[in-house]
Amino acid sequence: MRSSWSFMASAAHEVWYPGFGRLLRQMKRQDKTDVDDLYAIQCVQLASIVRFAFRRVRYYRDYAAKLGLDIESLRTHADLRSLPIVTRRQLQSRHADFLSEGRRSLRVHNASTSGTSGTPLDYRLSPRDRAVGLALMYRGWGYSGYQVGDRVLLLAGRSLGSASRRWDAGLTGYARNLVRLSAFDMTEKALSRYVTILNQKKPAYLRGYPSALLVLARWILCKGGLTWQPRAAFTTAEVLLPEVRSEISKALGCPVFDGYGLNDGGVSAFECERHCGLHIDMERSILEVVDEKGVTLKEGTGRIIATTLTNYAMPLLRYDTGDVGELVQHKCSCGRQRPLLKAIHGRSTDVLETPEGKLVHGWFFVYLLRDMSRYIEEFEVVQETVTKVSIVLVPTPEYNRTFEGRLRELVGELSPGWNVQIHLVAALQRVDGEKRKYVRTQVHAANRI
Ligand SMILES: [Zn+2]
Repeated sequence: MRSSWSFMASAAHEVWYPGFGRLLRQMKRQDKTDVDDLYAIQCVQLASIVRFAFRRVRYYRDYAAKLGLDIESLRTHADLRSLPIVTRRQLQSRHADFLSEGRRSLRVHNASTSGTSGTPLDYRLSPRDRAVGLALMYRGWGYSGYQVGDRVLLLAGRSLGSASRRWDAGLTGYARNLVRLSAFDMTEKALSRYVTILNQKKPAYLRGYPSALLVLARWILCKGGLTWQPRAAFTTAEVLLPEVRSEISKALGCPVFDGYGLNDGGVSAFECERHCGLHIDMERSILEVVDEKGVTLKEGTGRIIATTLTNYAMPLLRYDTGDVGELVQHKCSCGRQRPLLKAIHGRSTDVLETPEGKLVHGWFFVYLLRDMSRYIEEFEVVQETVTKVSIVLVPTPEYNRTFEGRLRELVGELSPGWNVQIHLVAALQRVDGEKRKYVRTQVHAANRI
């Protein structure tokens, strides 16, 4: 069974991106490559994309001229550190200036994100960059034994492994052998159905936000009924707390492998079988961790800064991802030499509750509002009571009543019982030294099932 799916999945990926199989094999070969060799490869990639960006991307061309930068001299990681950091706000406000010129004929993938940073953002990926990202994800999943074609059950929203275009949807849904369950509609009835689906579909792996898998895990621990044991669970997109890991592991009867990824910056990192940190992928981007002054750290906690190495559709040099991570110096005993991220801080949202009895993962709002960067600069969602939800927005000049009506309508479709209050503000209140949750609840029952 595994081999027939594997063959079909490989063929479908080859049609999606010719040469994908070769690319995946290359990434797997490089998994245990000497880290100095990987740094050397990064330098070659860096020199090339810097040269391209300074010639073909208006934003970088402007600042190279302004700062009097010699493009040819930017070749190493140390040279890179002389460049200014680009914030999400800059990227949002000058979006068109970051797109590569003269690449109209190139097939590109337009996407949007806000992570949990509360700032919606549009970005663009080249086909190769997407393929490298997928190959790295498969390599990372492979640390648990995963092979392309193995069945994976997703408990998520629409972005984890999904795509809006028909062909992509076909590829991801069928050939990738994915089973999708919604994390935005977790009623008691739905959770009971999810357990039945798990028993019937027998996925080799589960993937989801830690908080969504935790809701399912608690349901299973409380009600029982799970007769199938997957090989592993993959968590992503949020902080994985040790107690959450152990509850998920206990309920599903399998180990949990944590991962971190960000398509807009091209960064990714995956936990290996030793579970002592996440190995940072070095083939798609350069990941730096900087302190509050913007100084690159060898170890310690700071903001994660990404430089894309393969995305020629929208190169980003020293882009502030909005995430905070801890870089550690110790080597993993697995033999992979790539540096380790010990923890990603502050990436989390709550699970909200509706008067109709649904549990709704906070990423519902993250997805909804990230597509609205034309109207919204920043957002924050707070559930004050089971029936009252406040959406605080920093509007752009394009914000209007029609948009607001549409927003109310979309939230109303999810829960007719919610009284949604929209507040427009000039800026969100910041808490010093702390990355706050942009979707949070004050209703404790929502996280308790
Ligand atoms: Zn390792």
